[in-house]
Amino acid sequence: MSLNHLDHCVRCDALFVVVGSRICSSCLKQIEEEFQVCAAFLRKKENRMSTLQEMSEQTGVSVYQITEFIRQQRLIVDSYTNIEYPCEGCGKLVQKSRFCSDCKRDWQEEVDALANKRSETEEKERRSTYHIKDYRWDRHS
Ligand SMILES: [Zn+2]
Ligand SMILES: [Zn+2]
Repeated sequence: MSLNHLDHCVRCDALFVVVGSRICSSCLKQIEEEFQVCAAFLRKKENRMSTLQEMSEQTGVSVYQITEFIRQQRLIVDSYTNIEYPCEGCGKLVQKSRFCSDCKRDWQEEVDALANKRSETEEKERRSTYHIKDYRWDRHS
């Protein structure tokens, strides 16, 4: 039995032989070209202040695809660009990070809560077993 199977490309819906990716080779090639266009666009100083929408209009690359590049951190949008893209948590437009400050805070709270929970558990385990390594990082005061 062959490992290869035919499937529809998630991007253009063409039938192709799946090799690892759900995107067909012609789409992959196209995405690569679009990436080059976007990278060249951002290399120009005068373009760096454009918005995602303007960038999409001028490069002909979809807003969705540009956002993908940014999320994959292939395209670096930082302090020198004016590009905003949707937060991965709530869709609010953000710059410089994958999540807006609200989501980051929620996320941080969740992480803190989990960390507290874990250290409680570790505390209990430490009391019940005669030796357990302490993984917690000491906070420098
Ligand atoms: Zn395709
Ligand atoms: Zn958000």
